Amino acid sequence: MSSIIQLLPDHVANQIAAGEVVQRPASVVKELLENAVDAKATDIKLIINDAGKTLIQVIDNGIGMSIIDARLCFERHATSKIKHAEDLFALQTKGFRGEALASIAAIAHVELKTRQEQDELGTHLRIEGSKFIFQEPCVLPKGTTFLVKNLFFNIPARRNFLKSDTVEMRHILDEFHRVALAHPKIHFSLIANGNEIFNLPSGNLRQRIVAIFMGKTNEKLVPVEENTEIVSLKGFISKPDFAKKSRGEQFFFVNNRYIKSGYLHHAVLQAYDGLLKDDLQPSYFIFLDVPPHSIDINIHPTKTEIKFDDEHALYAILRASVKHSLGQFNVAPILDFDRDPNLDTPYSLLHREAKAPHIEVNRNFNPFATETFDSNKKSTTSIFSSKKQNASWESLYIDMASQSAQIAQIEVESEEVNNTLFQDESINETRNKSFQINRKYIACPIKSGLLIIHQSRAHQRILYEKFLKEITLSSGSSQQLLFPLELVFTIEECGVLKEIQDSLQAIGFLFEFSKQDAVIITGIPDIMLETKIEFLLQELIKDYQEDTLRESFSQNDKLAKLLAKNLAIKSGKLLVEEEQEQLINQLFACKEHITSPFQKNTYIQIEMSDLEKKFNL
Ligand code: ADP
Ligand code: MG
Repeated sequence: MSSIIQLLPDHVANQIAAGEVVQRPASVVKELLENAVDAKATDIKLIINDAGKTLIQVIDNGIGMSIIDARLCFERHATSKIKHAEDLFALQTKGFRGEALASIAAIAHVELKTRQEQDELGTHLRIEGSKFIFQEPCVLPKGTTFLVKNLFFNIPARRNFLKSDTVEMRHILDEFHRVALAHPKIHFSLIANGNEIFNLPSGNLRQRIVAIFMGKTNEKLVPVEENTEIVSLKGFISKPDFAKKSRGEQFFFVNNRYIKSGYLHHAVLQAYDGLLKDDLQPSYFIFLDVPPHSIDINIHPTKTEIKFDDEHALYAILRASVKHSLGQFNVAPILDFDRDPNLDTPYSLLHREAKAPHIEVNRNFNPFATETFDSNKKSTTSIFSSKKQNASWESLYIDMASQSAQIAQIEVESEEVNNTLFQDESINETRNKSFQINRKYIACPIKSGLLIIHQSRAHQRILYEKFLKEITLSSGSSQQLLFPLELVFTIEECGVLKEIQDSLQAIGFLFEFSKQDAVIITGIPDIMLETKIEFLLQELIKDYQEDTLRESFSQNDKLAKLLAKNLAIKSGKLLVEEEQEQLINQLFACKEHITSPFQKNTYIQIEMSDLEKKFNL
């Protein structure tokens, strides 16, 4: 039998390796940035077009390469960073496998320009899909420029698999943040589609964190530091009252390399135990230095997981130091999560001057006067307070201006009359009093049995249809804010807001960008509370970035879903009878009342016959 085994040609082997190293544009960004850091650059510029799908360029002022190295660096296992197996255990560099450039060159159009300080001329070289095209001398400043164009040009399946520009850009920013945080001394800049998104001057770690995340970041940071035999630990954590819904700003670096570790994350959360409300997340930027031989990072070229020798000790030290910092900076005692949020100053009053209280004396007051005045007063207050209560719950719901809602109200009123004036059995029978179960479901008897409605999902459906209509017709009504509200976001968050600004406007969200990282809100949808705006926008942005709704038909659809999800009443909310009725009526006025916008049942129906069967067992 003839032999059938062959060695794969290099370009095929490279393409296969590329599958592991380069999953998306962000992988290229990571490799090129790390190479520039390894080349001791002090100034690194990243240029991106179309979320890296058409262009990724990295310009550094590092040590550059010789003419020969410029050719060699694209060979597989070509590296200047290790020579012997032992070197693996004393790594000082980011790269060491010598695989990245070979892989990238196999699946893109790559150009390299590089010059070492001592050389007069540099070299310019092009490779396309592992195919060498040309190399010629060129003039350029000291350092290296890599240009990667048309990623996956020869692997359409991969190209089609890429996600939207927003998502791919998000991944690129993640990589950029990780490298920039680990090297605050290096000047980094990022230009995307011609706009400068980041310009991070050389500085210390705190300055770097603030330069990246901006806003109130500086206020919220508390330092952590601890030196033990097995680990030196330093960095910053956020004060608990700045905790966020999203897990965005959580970074561990081990020996200055970004890693992910659910285990260490847990240690940090444990330290915050009792200080964070619900599932809010602290921010942290923690740098661990461990002896290189005590870790094994050689698991996978692109993985960020890591194995430690002594995980348990690391966990304990990390938790203790974070706890210590929170205590030391006196963060813990001032927290009071049980305080009534109604006592907080609403945003609109923040800038208002305080007026001296006005004291009014009733000069006609006569302590011997009869009680009539008093009792009168009592009755007016009680009417007033019941009205107020009504108003507050009604604001929860949308005024769909649909007739069904009005009819529902009329029904409630007429029933009241029926109840008190006539004790008519037949009328009482048609009146189906609903009641809440576990503050989660609404049970509503109907002729043919019993409806059990999931209150949160039902409200999601109602809001979803409302928002979708408003976004499509631009018909949302807006309440003007008395004092425009300035909110600070990160630049990327602002990017998302820009993308969805038109749709938000359609439902009554009026805002402008005041700075690169801030918006001024002048109007909000009328069903919203002013104090909830920041939280809602953060949530929306987070969900939008995570792209959890890929099955949505359009951006409008997605936005309507996200808004509905975030604004709908939740399980656990007590609903008075009128609220329950309103919800039921609005639900059944919806086009698709059977399911929530996320395709979950909004209600179930128990038939009379089912009930009877149960009793006749
Ligand atoms: P690795 O980084 O694992 O060594 P790469 O494929 O990323 O492998 O790079 C191969 C080699 O090319 C590096 O070892 C380095 O010598 C050289 N190189 C890559 N990028 C640069 C750069 N920006 N400046 C100088 N040399 C570089
Ligand atoms: Mg490398």
